[in-house]
Amino acid sequence: MSDNKDVVQVHGCIVCGRLFNVLAVYAPNGKLVGCTVTSPGGHCVPDENQLLAACDIHTPDEIDVAHKRWQSRNEKELADEQEDE
Ligand SMILES: [Zn+2]
Repeated sequence: MSDNKDVVQVHGCIVCGRLFNVLAVYAPNGKLVGCTVTSPGGHCVPDENQLLAACDIHTPDEIDVAHKRWQSRNEKELADEQEDE
């Protein structure tokens, strides 16, 4: 039996920024093993590094584009914090 830990977090939709309550499950080694959006109208987006959420109304294409944009923006912000906007 594993001893996974449940953690309630708030995450914004990666497409439009709407906030969702998310129940994340972490393994004893700290690895994210599962997540469930507990607010109505949202779901989790699988990502190897980060827990992400999105509204159910967005298409998989929209989510995919936003996910890629989110990843590249994160990389950019690490390299240069001033350039955005
Ligand atoms: Zn959204």
